[in-house]
Amino acid sequence: MKNSKDYYRGCLLGGAVGDALGYPVEMLSNEEIQNSYGEKGIRRLVLDSTSGKALISDDTQMTTFTVDGLLWADSRAKERGIYGYTPCIFYAYQKWLYTQTGYFADKNYEFLLKGEVLEWEELYTQRGPGRTSIPTLAGCINGKYGTMTNRINGSKGSGAVMRAAPVGLYFYDDSKMAFKIGCESGAITHGHPSAYLPAGVLAYVIAEIISGANLESALAGALEELQRYEGFQETLEAVTRAVSLAKSQDQTLGKSDQAAADLLDIAAIGGGWTGEEALALAVYCAMRYPNDFESAMYLAVNHDGNSDTVAAICGNILGAYLGSMEIPFKWILQVELADLMVHGADKMIRALQEEE
Ligand SMILES: [Mg+2]
Repeated sequence: MKNSKDYYRGCLLGGAVGDALGYPVEMLSNEEIQNSYGEKGIRRLVLDSTSGKALISDDTQMTTFTVDGLLWADSRAKERGIYGYTPCIFYAYQKWLYTQTGYFADKNYEFLLKGEVLEWEELYTQRGPGRTSIPTLAGCINGKYGTMTNRINGSKGSGAVMRAAPVGLYFYDDSKMAFKIGCESGAITHGHPSAYLPAGVLAYVIAEIISGANLESALAGALEELQRYEGFQETLEAVTRAVSLAKSQDQTLGKSDQAAADLLDIAAIGGGWTGEEALALAVYCAMRYPNDFESAMYLAVNHDGNSDTVAAICGNILGAYLGSMEIPFKWILQVELADLMVHGADKMIRALQEEE
């Protein structure tokens, strides 16, 4: 079992440092990255000249609000016996909308202003939010939001999976529940199955890892569960391809040939702008370096595709798998809001221990 602070912190800090490493190069091709950062690509956190910190982006910001929603649901369940995880996550995302725009979709949501997470000033800044989440949340009035049966739009962007890891941490002892709530949390803003099902897969994988499974068996279980959901094919195909490419890599290649082979594999999986591709790329990088957090991160950001999101998801997975001690300490010191990640992880552990 890995239901201890070290692995919960690892999951959230791992996501944050991956996000921060990839954010400056999110929109750059691999060639452009090499032109700016050298032949080996970006291999350090870029520090902001004002704050001196490596900036996180929308991925980590929204993940923080997923934690917030789950903790709120947890306290409501304990105090009043009301179980409503997805509504609470929806309201937490309204708080995120408030940090990005200064308003809620509905005046009736202003009661949310008292939430603790809104006291963190660093969250009040736009860091490349995807095109879907802000306008979609801004249209969610009267407590209504997207669900798997009542799909809110056709978006298959990576914005649903990138924020789902905390669902796996919370439901670590019930991975099927993690899958379901992961999907529901994604469907709040993203209506395409290839956007919200990857969120379910990620939550399931994190839950299994926390329960002690290795990466491969966690993934196998997640892919089995995935097939119970409508519209699973694209996600199944993408992740299956990533796993088989990672496993079939020729181990006898020299370092530079291996790096070239990795890039070809990554190009074959896709750019990571859609949910299933972002998840598949993160899975590929995690499986190539399951015991080497740093190398997995370099692989996750140095390519033509969606660097911050792929590295954020990969960082969530490997951080949960290896624990926070395996994340370079320098990165933890440099990344923005590391204290909020630790705070969120520890609060979640406390909430779960109260139940036992
Ligand atoms: Mg981002």
